[in-house]
Amino acid sequence: MARTAARPEAAAHRELRPAREDCPHCGRRTWADYTNHRTVTTLDGLLRLDLTVRRCPHPDCPLHLRPYRPEEEGRVALPQHEFGLDVIALVGSLRYARHRTVTEIHAELTARGVRVCPRTVTNLLDRYDELRALGLTDTQRLRKLTAAWGRVVLAIDGLQPDVGHEVLWVLRDCLSGQVLLARSMLSATQRDLAELIRSVSRALAVPVVGVVSDGQHSVRKAVAEALPGVPHQLCHFHYLREAARPLYEMDRHAKKELKKHVRGVRKLEREAEREAEGNDDRQGVVTRGYCAAVRSAISDDGRPPLDASGLKLRGRLRAIHESLGRAAESLSNASSSSSKAKAKAAAEKGGRAAQH
Ligand SMILES: [Zn+2]
Repeated sequence: MARTAARPEAAAHRELRPAREDCPHCGRRTWADYTNHRTVTTLDGLLRLDLTVRRCPHPDCPLHLRPYRPEEEGRVALPQHEFGLDVIALVGSLRYARHRTVTEIHAELTARGVRVCPRTVTNLLDRYDELRALGLTDTQRLRKLTAAWGRVVLAIDGLQPDVGHEVLWVLRDCLSGQVLLARSMLSATQRDLAELIRSVSRALAVPVVGVVSDGQHSVRKAVAEALPGVPHQLCHFHYLREAARPLYEMDRHAKKELKKHVRGVRKLEREAEREAEGNDDRQGVVTRGYCAAVRSAISDDGRPPLDASGLKLRGRLRAIHESLGRAAESLSNASSSSSKAKAKAAAEKGGRAAQH
């Protein structure tokens, strides 16, 4: 049944970027080419994803202009699906581990706040069955999927929507975006996981050049056992992001406070524009240049966790402030004018901000 009402606004929002910035083939830097948007229904509500897609810009590379999407995207949802993998995993677990009927599953999802019609539950169950049916016996499929890229960046996720119940382990290829293998296991020891990884890598005709995961202990050890020497990267990114979170919050607050001090810049700019109309006012040009510099500093974000937006803004405002100080000084040596007063006002504004 088609949806009769529009989907409500997403309650949560996440920006995902590829963890790797170099081309998986030629190793040169890729470009963040464009952004994709998706809205996914998860167990925690509607989630909007803004996804940065990178591409290799070098025409001599076989992966030239092939989109490389954020590794984490596949953990949230399957390609082209509007329901999250966590919802699919829950539906499967309710059906097979707890032997619920479709009607009962529908009631459980509704009780959890997932807006879904009974027919969709059947579809989700089909998706779950398809995932589980991805057999390693079908090596043809695996080889066809991964041949175009010539290598695999393996992602390993364990989805456990229900505490105390089985975990759906999903092994994906980040390059093709496809699920290679999914298996439901009650307990997953290092040995179980290593065997899972080994069976996938054996079935492939191309090498696994990297592994990404959330860095769980058992996963890390299993990767080291099954794929010795293969870099296992994303955990660093996750650790760093988690470790830097308090710092990130403080920096974000600092940026908000800093911005308050330069809030009037657009008004100043408009005044300068009005005065400049019809006359060749060189000082007005300079004033507007400073205003533009302040506005651009405000909108120029850093890339947390390593490049803090607040600190970056402070640095830029300070540079503007110092430049303004020099300009005001040379102006005070020249004849008095209204621009002089304005430059001074702007200098004070920038100065107050830079002191914080
Ligand atoms: Zn390349």
